[in-house]
Amino acid sequence: MKRDPVCHKEVKEKEAITAECDGVIFYFCSEGCKDSFLEKRSCARNDYELIIIGGGPAGLTAGVYAATLKMDSLLVAKDLGGQAVDSTKIENYMGFDFVTGPELIEKFKEQLFCSHYIDHLLSEVEKIEPQEGGFKITTSEMATYTAKALIIATGMTRRRLGVPGEEKFLRKGIFYGAIQGLSFVEGEGAVVIGGGNSAFQVVENLHTIASNIYLISHSEPTADPAVVERVLCLANLKTYIGYKVLEFTGDQTLNGVTIKKIGDVETLALPAKGAFVAVGLVPNSSVAAPLVKLNERREILINRDCSTSCPGIFAAGDVTDTFGKRIIIAAGEGAKAALAARQYLLNLQKVVCPPT
Ligand SMILES: Cc1cc2nc3c(=O)[nH]c(=O)nc-3n(C[C@H](O)[C@H](O)[C@H](O)COP(=O)(O)OP(=O)(O)OC[C@H]3O[C@@H](n4cnc5c(N)ncnc54)[C@H](O)[C@@H]3O)c2cc1C
Repeated sequence: MKRDPVCHKEVKEKEAITAECDGVIFYFCSEGCKDSFLEKRSCARNDYELIIIGGGPAGLTAGVYAATLKMDSLLVAKDLGGQAVDSTKIENYMGFDFVTGPELIEKFKEQLFCSHYIDHLLSEVEKIEPQEGGFKITTSEMATYTAKALIIATGMTRRRLGVPGEEKFLRKGIFYGAIQGLSFVEGEGAVVIGGGNSAFQVVENLHTIASNIYLISHSEPTADPAVVERVLCLANLKTYIGYKVLEFTGDQTLNGVTIKKIGDVETLALPAKGAFVAVGLVPNSSVAAPLVKLNERREILINRDCSTSCPGIFAAGDVTDTFGKRIIIAAGEGAKAALAARQYLLNLQKVVCPPT
């Protein structure tokens, strides 16, 4: 199987439409994808009107809007999908009663790269610098790109607990997303740490796979009440509310978790082959931090039109101080940021008439 570089669909090598470019054979699912690829390749360059950083719901939606607004744009992202890919059960996105994260993101990608198209690059942005007339970004491969305006949609990443054994058993029993770790705990004990929607979603995913589940949260659950009610009824779940994790133990792989009730001295050792950590997220704002104002949680401060304290830099989604960390909100903010960036670029172009 090969991957279409435009829409990222898998295509069978023998059935695919092919094109040679710069000595490399590319495989496409349709003539449309081939044409847009060749058209863009022929003018591949480093200077754009707008660069969108991030490939989650905010960045992908900003990309669709930038394409429909005919903005000359590049999207740079470490991955396409962001946190939404880890969601196994989305029940609050308009148009779908139920959809999994990977299914929803497939639809987003199809809309951006098949129905529309913008230049894109899978890479990490390591540096953003102001320069005459805009900004310069540097990727992890040391490639540089310039633009008059930027949209920062870098979202959030999972917080670590910072306790002994956490690094040692990473992916050897300790996981930060449920999907990768499910096979590890088949018929075994599992620990889920956290009290928010992510933690409760992990418990729901595990309850038919693990023999028994221990949910550990240092405070009362903050997940949506309907989810809490449903999950707390599960027969193989035992909850430890008001407890904290002291250590992860084991040999080559994880065997157990030591916990302690907050305020008590006695510790408790729980047998577990898997531990799923869902204790919140931290905003990925450090790349933009030198240029824009952040709040105390290190979220980028935005105005109602997604503009930031730095003219020309817009921000959208979970990386910002916007209220509500949800897919639909991130997508909406991504759309708003693209509209505002376009207005900013139009204002730059306005010719100032000399006084008569
Ligand atoms: C397990 C889980 C379940 C969830 N379930 C739901 C749900 O059911 N419903 C709901 O509405 N929301 C849910 N959410 C929340 C939702 O996924 C987020 O609110 C949403 O994904 C935020 O979108 P975003 O685009 O702002 O950021 P993200 O999704 O975090 O995407 C950020 C993007 O930026 C990229 N990036 C970061 N730094 C850089 C860099 N320096 N250079 C290049 N790229 C970079 C990342 O790789 C990623 O592509 C869930 C979250 C989790 C973790």
